[in-house]
Amino acid sequence: MTRVLLLGGTGDALKLARQLGPAHVYSLAGLGKVPDDLNCAVRVGGFGGSAGLARYVASEGIDLVIDATHPYAAQISANAVQACRAANVPCWALRRPAWQPQAGDDWRMVGDWHELIGTLAPFRRPLFTLGREPLAHLDEIPPHQFWTVRVLDSHPDTARSRILAARGPFTLDGERALFALLAFDVVVSKNSGGGATEAKLEVARERGLPVIMLRRPLLPDVDREFATVAELLEALQA
Ligand code: NAP
Repeated sequence: MTRVLLLGGTGDALKLARQLGPAHVYSLAGLGKVPDDLNCAVRVGGFGGSAGLARYVASEGIDLVIDATHPYAAQISANAVQACRAANVPCWALRRPAWQPQAGDDWRMVGDWHELIGTLAPFRRPLFTLGREPLAHLDEIPPHQFWTVRVLDSHPDTARSRILAARGPFTLDGERALFALLAFDVVVSKNSGGGATEAKLEVARERGLPVIMLRRPLLPDVDREFATVAELLEALQA
């Protein structure tokens, strides 16, 4: 029987993990919630780079690694491919298709934080939805801006920022109410893809707001790539 190591940290990875039996292992970095209701084994924390991951794969008798991490978690994806090569096991990946701009969208693509801040300069009330990075820059907010930063875990507000602790999925009605209440004039986002956090883009479109979009990192080639949980499960069962 194939013993799977599933690298997770996303809602899709958890859906996959729920389908795995006790022989398999679900691995989390340890930043978010650790599920305690799975049939498969759960391990938490880094492996110690690609070499550590290769050692883990060999010592645990893993036959297949599935990378179902977030599209912006580029380090673990690179480590997975290198480790699989070293341990001579296949590497599959679940790669959610990126969102595509639609008619009426005004996306401003940026490559890093520095470029992002430059593009943000003309705006006053951004909504940040790209994780914790803005929290490290709250003391750099220019006087004409007030930031709303949506992150998973709570964090104190400052005079120039409001930190919203919230976990998706987010509904269209909920996002409409939030945008109306806090009068955002721009949205800052990763291109995560998937449905759980897409409603903000629809509301930005409705309100004619620009979206500053952080480009996806390049990810390494894998042996097999899947766009959906269902396709990956079908391949596993085959
Ligand atoms: P990253 O930069 O690619 O990885 C940093 C290090 O964290 C890795 O080198 C590895 O440590 C450890 N790691 C990451 N995922 C792991 C996993 N599933 N199991 C065991 N160790 C793991 O990742 P990140 O961007 O910090 O994201 C961390 C986790 O949060 C990922 O699992 C990702 O799926 C999830 N996540 C990330 C984002 C995002 O926007 N980046 C969004 C939602 C969820 P070692 O080198 O020591 O093995």
